[in-house]
Amino acid sequence: MIRVSKKWLKFKILKWFIAMLGFVLSIYLAANHYRTQRKNITTQNNVQSERFLNRIEIRLRIYETLLSQTQAFFVTINKVSHKDFKKYYRNLRNFSQLYGIRGIGFSRYVPKNELPAFLREMRDEVPQYQIWPFEDKEEYFPIMFLEPPSFFNDSVLGFDISTERNRFLALSRAWQTGETTMSGRVNFVRSLNLVEKDLGFILLRPVYKEIKKKDHFTKKNLNGFIYAPFIYNDFLSKTSEDFSDLFDYQVFEYHPQQEIFLIFQSQENISHENMFSKKYSFLGQSFLFKFYPKADYKVITNSSIIILLIGLSLTLLIIKVLNDTIKTAEQSSLNEKNLEESLRARDEFISIASHELKTPLTSLKLRAQISKRKLSKDKLSLDGFNEFVDEIEKHVVRLERLVNDILDITRIRTGNFSFQPDPFNFCHLIEDVIIRVRLQFASCLPPIIVRPCNEIIVNWDRMRIEQVLTNLLTNAIKYGKGSPIKIDIQISNKDIIFSVSDKGIGIEPQFTEMIFNRFERAGISPNEISGLGLGLFITHRIVSDHKGKIWVESVKNEGSTFHVKMAKDPFL
Ligand code: ADP
Repeated sequence: MIRVSKKWLKFKILKWFIAMLGFVLSIYLAANHYRTQRKNITTQNNVQSERFLNRIEIRLRIYETLLSQTQAFFVTINKVSHKDFKKYYRNLRNFSQLYGIRGIGFSRYVPKNELPAFLREMRDEVPQYQIWPFEDKEEYFPIMFLEPPSFFNDSVLGFDISTERNRFLALSRAWQTGETTMSGRVNFVRSLNLVEKDLGFILLRPVYKEIKKKDHFTKKNLNGFIYAPFIYNDFLSKTSEDFSDLFDYQVFEYHPQQEIFLIFQSQENISHENMFSKKYSFLGQSFLFKFYPKADYKVITNSSIIILLIGLSLTLLIIKVLNDTIKTAEQSSLNEKNLEESLRARDEFISIASHELKTPLTSLKLRAQISKRKLSKDKLSLDGFNEFVDEIEKHVVRLERLVNDILDITRIRTGNFSFQPDPFNFCHLIEDVIIRVRLQFASCLPPIIVRPCNEIIVNWDRMRIEQVLTNLLTNAIKYGKGSPIKIDIQISNKDIIFSVSDKGIGIEPQFTEMIFNRFERAGISPNEISGLGLGLFITHRIVSDHKGKIWVESVKNEGSTFHVKMAKDPFL
């Protein structure tokens, strides 16, 4: 058995190695899949967000070009009238398709001394024209025209753009640099209800009276500004249309060391997971874009879990297959061993059984030969003949018992070991068994002391219980070294405990349980004391069939007591 385990040990180690490898590989593959997928999505997000920012830049460049073109118009025509500008606007192609832009117009630089002339000139074309909010100042920047006509554009005519901080900052930067500038966030009135406002920005491009002049970027040379208002909402939502499946985003006005200010978000409720941000500057303004990818990271997690599960299941499957294979191989190897073992046991049994059967047969043969010789010489008396018959009977009884034991073993193995309970007086059975044993052992029988008993009615199989008593008594005689034998009976309520004791060779503790196994002889060789090692096995089976218990108390070289406990009527 130990040799078998060792033989399979390397396969078992291999199995655990494969299992470990499988587990580690599954975890590695799942983690790797997760990492790669996330990396892909991150790269994808990065590329898409860059594309989006590029698109904003392109759009703004288009508007910048529009402003430059309009600036050129103002430079070419020295004094642009309302009509001229309307005509110019009408000739602008595709203006209505330029999204986000609310209009294009002009804000004039008016020093205080030129104010009356300016107003006169303006009112020739627009009679109710006035500058607002009006206060006594050195210079004014009123909006002269803003096309196309709309509630929004008409309402800002005359508005002095220098009166609002962010517009003022943008126009200062513009005339000093000569470049198009973008203002910080400004509020635009949305409708007649003046409280409703839209956040936006304006683009300004300065127009100078004389381009070639040395003092080009001076107020003296300043004519005014090309003016274009934009609403963030219109501009950004249109620009990001193609990206709406990929991410949500927020745009913040951003100045270093100042708090960021939210100017736009693509949706009311944004899930704030996996955010990444980008800074972006254009035409003098800085923005912070926060992107919230819509890519379903759960899908990656789930697919990674699926890969992990598949890996683990495959590993488990491989382990199971290996396990079964090793077990089957181990089992067949064990079966081979067991087969060898049972063949050996069978051979041993045949040799013991033949020896056991041969002993009474040899005695019988010898006795028959002597009697035959005596008969032929006419020397056999009646007493001698009786003695001869007794002798024959003794040997026949012994042979009968041996054959019965062998038959019982076969019956037990084939499941044909039956029994038939019937009420009888147990005290009478004890008496009968003692008489029979006395007959068999005659002169060599040690004294048998029985606790007196008259009547104990039990519902057991009489023949089988007789077999039990005979076995125990025969063993006590065989292994009792001629010591007196005691049969004790105790009755408690429903149960009976009967015991058979001797003061013989006793049993070593390690054998007290094993002696009830088949062929177990507790190390006694058939040459010392004859026996097949079957009696106690059959006894144990009979007691178990009666739902009882049998056990032994024994001290080596001091003697043994076998106890049997059974209910008077076990089948109630
Ligand atoms: P057998 O007597 O034919 O060997 P049993 O099954 O009756 O077979 O007994 C099994 C073994 O139990 C015996 O070989 C013997 O070693 C031990 N044994 C049984 N009864 C006694 C006893 N009264 N004293 C000592 N040993 C016993």
